[in-house]
Amino acid sequence: MNFRQLIKAFKKLKLDGSRPVLVHASVSSLGKLKGGSEQLLGALLENFDSVITPTFTFKTMITPETGPENNAIEYGSKLDLNKMSEIFYPNMPVDKRMGIFAETLRKHKEASRSTHPILSFAGINAEKYLNAQSLSRPLAPIAALAKDKAYTMLIGLDHTRNTSIHLGEQLSGRKTFTRWALVSDMVAECTGFPSCSGGFNAVLPYMSPFINFAKIGDAEVQVMQMDVLVKTVQQLLSSDSSALLCDNDECHRCQAVRAELE
Ligand SMILES: [Zn+2]
Repeated sequence: MNFRQLIKAFKKLKLDGSRPVLVHASVSSLGKLKGGSEQLLGALLENFDSVITPTFTFKTMITPETGPENNAIEYGSKLDLNKMSEIFYPNMPVDKRMGIFAETLRKHKEASRSTHPILSFAGINAEKYLNAQSLSRPLAPIAALAKDKAYTMLIGLDHTRNTSIHLGEQLSGRKTFTRWALVSDMVAECTGFPSCSGGFNAVLPYMSPFINFAKIGDAEVQVMQMDVLVKTVQQLLSSDSSALLCDNDECHRCQAVRAELE
């Protein structure tokens, strides 16, 4: 697949390019793509005025000695790991688990990045959304995007990577967590930290009617309107408060959410 075919494939989705798009992409899922992640970003920018992606950095995190209860964290347990934590800086590379696309967007000459030390976002023509974020409101960019009828796009990834679902959870009153990260000369307390996304594929039967499913290269692509997704998650959680939690018995965050529901 080459650049021109990629642009064409996105055009075929018939999306409104004046609306922003929050992209979660696995570049390798597209198959053979000449130019890789740069070309994917270029093709998205041919179709959309604003492209945003999560650029999370987990190596800034530290585990303190004490903190709030039922926070799915073993206080004082990771002193050795704390020593390996790094102070956040604006050009800190994106965590490898976020994929090469996120790092490519972050490094784009026209990109800006928000300053949350763990849950930053990067975007092009997206200052309005990035500036909405604060230490206590990590998902504010998503709220601002949803308000502007943004799209959420998954390229070769499933809903366990769909960060927008966390906004629906939080608006439904689902428990959030507190985490800590190194920022210049201090430890920043990051509240409103989202729960686990391991069970998010359970949203699919409810969202399917509203998802534009497509195939681009070898990748399965899903595009949806973010506000519809957020509303669907809220409806789902109002009828089943434990919906979208994962099945892993050892998942501390999902256990903590369940404990609060009892
Ligand atoms: Zn879980």
